[in-house]
Amino acid sequence: MQSKLPHVGTTIFTVMTRMAQQHGAINLSQGFPDFDCPAYLRERVVHHLNNRKNQYAPMTGVDQLRAEIANKVNTLYHCQVDMDQEITVTSGATEALYDAIQAFVSDGDEVIMFDPAYDSYDPSVRLAGGIPVHLPLTRPDYCIDWQLLQDSISDKTRMIIINSPHNPCGSVLTSADLDQLAELIRDRKIIVLSDEVYEHMVFDGGIHQSVLRHAELREKSIAVFSFGKTYHATGWKAAYCVAPENIMSEFRKIHQFVTFTSTSFIQYAIADFMRDCPEHHEDLPAFYQKKRDTFNELISASRLTFTPSAGTYFQCVDYSEVSDLPDREFVDWLCQEKKLAAIPLSPFYENAPADSRMIRFCFCKDDSTLKQAADIICQL
Ligand code: PMP
Ligand code: GLN
Repeated sequence: MQSKLPHVGTTIFTVMTRMAQQHGAINLSQGFPDFDCPAYLRERVVHHLNNRKNQYAPMTGVDQLRAEIANKVNTLYHCQVDMDQEITVTSGATEALYDAIQAFVSDGDEVIMFDPAYDSYDPSVRLAGGIPVHLPLTRPDYCIDWQLLQDSISDKTRMIIINSPHNPCGSVLTSADLDQLAELIRDRKIIVLSDEVYEHMVFDGGIHQSVLRHAELREKSIAVFSFGKTYHATGWKAAYCVAPENIMSEFRKIHQFVTFTSTSFIQYAIADFMRDCPEHHEDLPAFYQKKRDTFNELISASRLTFTPSAGTYFQCVDYSEVSDLPDREFVDWLCQEKKLAAIPLSPFYENAPADSRMIRFCFCKDDSTLKQAADIICQL
């Protein structure tokens, strides 16, 4: 049987988490917290589950939740959004990314993405008949090469996918970066798909540069956010996206036939939590910066080298002083022999640099887990 995605296997996140379980390893691979989501949020879920919020939610998401999202976007990014026309709740950011690509990419359209790129982008583009155009981020800072982007934009370019804070690298875009992007696509029919699921994890006093802050980009972008990251509830697969009405109306044509809508009692619960506990997301940068600093301090005596992550809950490290194995083999060895699971960077590339000796650790873990992991790392 012919495969529609002949080069795709099982995602590296599934592979590494399974391997961690098989080998009893500490799992700093797939990105999910090993602590629970807030008690009040869980209480609201139970409340709505027991109070008849068990039937279809509206296709666009429940009103209360879209109202809270509009309020948050306005407060945080000084961006006025129409909750009825410009916000859609989805079943995870993965669904929003997929729908956005299906809505705008047709046969032969080119979609530019930056490697290392989150693993769902490329297959989603291919399934829409599009052509992924992979541009490498410039090492060691993993920033965009603007000249290369300019040279790569063609009449076939339909979409550019950006991701800040960046998974897996932990780099962030600046407002100057957004200006550059806006300039390069001015007067072109290019849509920006902006993956901002780590919006609340920007460190060292930096601010998240959402496309929603940028008047020009706001008009041609779909910005994607995830409740899973913000509320420590990745398993709920709850997310949303924001786009101007002319873009959102096309997006919804796809969303209504992919999932139609998302779990209703979860949406009501998140709406209550956003209304009653706005300090949760306000405190998140400091919460995760502390985790990053704890982890980095614990591994500072090791032979791994790294630049502290500027955002996300991931820390990339260079292991070249420990081993010369390619990253896929190195993470297998680390998991099976040393009982520590990490994510290699090569699966996020179309053409991974042969000399790269980088892996990603996830630090959204209890301090005790980070300490156990660091003990292993310091003995490498
Ligand atoms: N984009 C990026 C960059 C991610 O790291 C993730 C990870 N989960 C997603 C999208 C998907 O988010 P969700 O779990 O809400 O589908
Ligand atoms: N986004 C998560 C990560 O980067 C994984 C999501 C998934 O497993 N699909 O680790």
